[in-house]
Amino acid sequence: MGQNRPYKHRKAQKEVKEYEQYQCMVCGKISQNAQGHHLIPYSEGGSADMQNMITLCLDCHRKYHRGELNIDIYRF
Ligand SMILES: [Zn+2]
Ligand SMILES: [Zn+2]
Repeated sequence: MGQNRPYKHRKAQKEVKEYEQYQCMVCGKISQNAQGHHLIPYSEGGSADMQNMITLCLDCHRKYHRGELNIDIYRF
């Protein structure tokens, strides 16, 4: 803990959307604006591993962080 490496996280966010081909894991929309989301927030010690990342479109990502998306997202 305490060794925060933002670069690693940015890289992981890019990797996860390339891996999932920019497809939102909630609504299935494919968009170039898709974003990598941390399942366990970076601020809570979430890792930059693929297991902790998911691809969300802008809409779903925004909704999720506003608490408007009533689903729990788990990759594994
Ligand atoms: Zn979506
Ligand atoms: Zn997010």
